[in-house]
Amino acid sequence: MDFDYSPKVLEAKERLEAFMDENVYPAEREHHDFVMNSDNLWKQPPVVEALKDKAREAGIWNWFLPAEYGEWSPGFTNLEFAPLAEVMGRVPWSFEVFNCSAPDRGNMEVLARFGSAEQQDQWLRPLLEGRIRSTYAMTEPQVASSDATNMQLTIERDGNEWVLNGRKWWSSNIMHPLNEILITMGVTDPGAPRHRQHSMVLVPKDTPGLEVVRAVEVFGNYHSPSGHGELKYTDVRVPVDNIILGEGEGFTIAQGRLGPGRFQYAMTNVGMAQRMLDLMCARADQREPFGRKISERSSVRQDIARARCSIEQARLLVLKAAAEMDKSGAKGARDYISMVKIIGPKLAHDVAERAMQIFGGKGVSGDTPIADMYVTGRLMRIADGPDEVHMNQLAKFTMGQVEMQRQAGTGGIEWHGD
Ligand SMILES: Cc1cc2nc3c(=O)[nH]c(=O)nc-3n(C[C@H](O)[C@H](O)[C@H](O)COP(=O)(O)OP(=O)(O)OC[C@H]3O[C@@H](n4cnc5c(N)ncnc54)[C@H](O)[C@@H]3O)c2cc1C
Repeated sequence: MDFDYSPKVLEAKERLEAFMDENVYPAEREHHDFVMNSDNLWKQPPVVEALKDKAREAGIWNWFLPAEYGEWSPGFTNLEFAPLAEVMGRVPWSFEVFNCSAPDRGNMEVLARFGSAEQQDQWLRPLLEGRIRSTYAMTEPQVASSDATNMQLTIERDGNEWVLNGRKWWSSNIMHPLNEILITMGVTDPGAPRHRQHSMVLVPKDTPGLEVVRAVEVFGNYHSPSGHGELKYTDVRVPVDNIILGEGEGFTIAQGRLGPGRFQYAMTNVGMAQRMLDLMCARADQREPFGRKISERSSVRQDIARARCSIEQARLLVLKAAAEMDKSGAKGARDYISMVKIIGPKLAHDVAERAMQIFGGKGVSGDTPIADMYVTGRLMRIADGPDEVHMNQLAKFTMGQVEMQRQAGTGGIEWHGD
């Protein structure tokens, strides 16, 4: 295995890092103060729009969309994009600056892979241009949504229209002033086999009957301007052509959507963790309680060393997941995708925990990105599917592989001394 980044990746990484140094890190304070000011609730920070223009001009744009998407893609493979996602992950809101932010990137992938030409013209193009934003509405308050087959929102055909009735929540990005479109998952045929009951339809945000009941808080924060909404659909009507791929294809699409997006989240976690490690090393070297630098304490050195090991382990595993995706697609890479989904958020969460402690009071304040990253790491252990669900999947795959070896009589699975 070659662990070196290619010249193409090194050149892109250098350009991206220079852009971050020049434009993004210096804007962190301004961005933070804007979004935390309640007068600005649900307003887009002007600095984000200004930086989007610059990033578009610099050609650092839509890099998330893998080369397999042909004309829609700027041409990076998953393996090539992974280290670039790590750089963006050092400032999580910067993903929007480069038009690589969730949930849009997953939604753009859905439209690029499964959308009709009309759907692509109407929604994919403006999304790729960064003119509009979007929501992915799957989770429902009344059912255990970690099992997506539980979704109950109904999508019924009436002449040339689909009629949607039901509830959703945790619909991220719904409050964003640029949001114009929701991909909504619901039941089109309750009598079909369990994974053929659901479909996805495009619902423009201004469709009559679609109500944002409230914005849901995360640890007391609304995450303005994106927000996470609770939604009520009452006889929401959209044209039949708004269905994506076809009736009963909800799970086919969900599988496609959750591939690259998941390793990209994991690399965000690596980027966040590396940033926090960098910050904590610098801080530990600057402060001197009780006559010695914090960095000279052996417990702190152990924290730094352990964080470094965990970050490098995670980075290599994510690169492996990305390489497997390129080689064998999301299905072939499923074990690795489960692995990075398990370790990514926990990594960010654990490194944030140590970084906060080393920073003392400043670590829990808004004066570094650490407190926000702590919350992000923690919520990702649920938002991207709970840890346990990914572990359950991975254990199932692993047991299956061992059973095959046992049946084949290879690998020393049977103990012949018995
Ligand atoms: C900040 C945030 C943003 C989100 N954004 C979106 C979004 O944009 N769109 C969207 O549709 N959804 C979104 N979600 C919702 C998220 O996907 C769900 O919260 C998640 O899938 C879990 O579903 P649930 O909350 O219904 O928990 P439940 O399904 O009720 O599960 C509760 C708990 O049960 C346990 N559990 C579940 N399955 C197993 C198992 N197999 N083994 C052992 N224990 C298990 C886990 O501990 C789990 O946390 C977001 C959530 C958050 C917090």
